[in-house]
Amino acid sequence: MEYFLTEEQKVIKDLARRIAEERILPVRAELDEKEEFPGAIMKDLADSDLFRICVPEEYDGLGGGCMELCLVVEELSRICSGVAVSYAATGLGASALLLYGSDEQKQKYLPDITSGKRLAAFALTESTAGSDAGNIKTTAEKTADGYVLNGTKQFITNGGEAEIYTVIALTDKKRGARGASAFLVEKDTPGFTFGKKEKKMGIRTSSTRELVFRNCEIPEENRISREGMGFIMTMKVLDRSRPAIGAQAVGIAQGALEATVDYAQERIQFGHPIITIPVVQNMLAEMATRVEAARLLVYAAARTIDSGAKDFTEEASMAKVFASDTAMKVTTDAVQIFGGAGYMRDYPVEKMMRDAKITQIYEGSNEVLRGTIAVGLRKRKARRE
Ligand SMILES: Cc1cc2nc3c(=O)[nH]c(=O)nc-3n(C[C@H](O)[C@H](O)[C@H](O)COP(=O)(O)OP(=O)(O)OC[C@H]3O[C@@H](n4cnc5c(N)ncnc54)[C@H](O)[C@@H]3O)c2cc1C
Repeated sequence: MEYFLTEEQKVIKDLARRIAEERILPVRAELDEKEEFPGAIMKDLADSDLFRICVPEEYDGLGGGCMELCLVVEELSRICSGVAVSYAATGLGASALLLYGSDEQKQKYLPDITSGKRLAAFALTESTAGSDAGNIKTTAEKTADGYVLNGTKQFITNGGEAEIYTVIALTDKKRGARGASAFLVEKDTPGFTFGKKEKKMGIRTSSTRELVFRNCEIPEENRISREGMGFIMTMKVLDRSRPAIGAQAVGIAQGALEATVDYAQERIQFGHPIITIPVVQNMLAEMATRVEAARLLVYAAARTIDSGAKDFTEEASMAKVFASDTAMKVTTDAVQIFGGAGYMRDYPVEKMMRDAKITQIYEGSNEVLRGTIAVGLRKRKARRE
């Protein structure tokens, strides 16, 4: 398949693939088993300038966009999506800053993020606010010098490992979601601690943790944009990051497909490789077709975003929904073709099937996003009338 990548994009993709194969592949099973954060690999990615790709050149970045991010995430996920999400969460954590931050805030925080010296994270979810993100309870009360944060965020990727957190909190409780604002909070701020570290089904090398704020004082200059912009910002940030979740799913599915073709070629039953069995061939053909379709949808959504389009909610949602459902289906079929061996940890498809599941859940569950797509269809119909 021809993806019409630019020369720069091919270089970025090849670089990410090389790091994934040379540095992640030898340790992926161990990282998963030990549920250990891939700190050394984050350093490799930083040393290879991969944290710079989506940052404008004026802030020491490489000036790439969503497409470049998707290529890196896909290649890392082909080997280990736990590593990929640890990398991508920094982009998510820096996204509100990049889109809405002041020049002073960018000058202060972006150099450390682009160099990979400090990881970032994005904190929205709470026990009462998952899909219902507008129901957050964390408050940011105005004081003479700034704000005091109180509340608990849950399921935060890079929690404990990141040093810069974008936190969504209520500056006006009465206004609900319209009273939410975004803040940059540094790891060692007094009153900011880490709670429960989650033990997960998949992406186990990534850190998923509670953030606890108890009378945590932050200066006014750490608020991103105006008060009350937090929820709108969140929606824009997530619209931009959903193709990257799609890319994570495509990478997982691609890895599973390749492992399955190899296995089907080697596994002999009834005197022949199982790849000669028509039912297995049909399954492989279906898997390969779905992976290509998902990849093309993800690239199309990423390119739409990079074109400067103003509204891409539906494209981003479709890419995430279709690619994540593809990853779940393809990895499940991969385990099936491996038979009993696929159920064992000796082969990567067992991990890939566990890793695929989360892509259907986070950054907007697929059920919620199907609702978003349907709303878009109704709007388009209304415009036609
Ligand atoms: C490993 C992991 C990492 C995460 N990382 C982050 C992070 O870095 N930052 C962050 O802020 N959050 C993060 N999250 C949170 C994640 O985005 C939420 O888990 C997700 O949005 C779903 O919310 P929930 O878990 O509360 O499920 P719920 O909202 O309780 O949903 C439960 C079920 O109900 C369905 N449902 C709910 N509402 C609707 C509706 N309106 N229409 C149709 N179906 C509906 C859902 O689809 C789902 O099937 C992470 C979660 C996980 C598991």
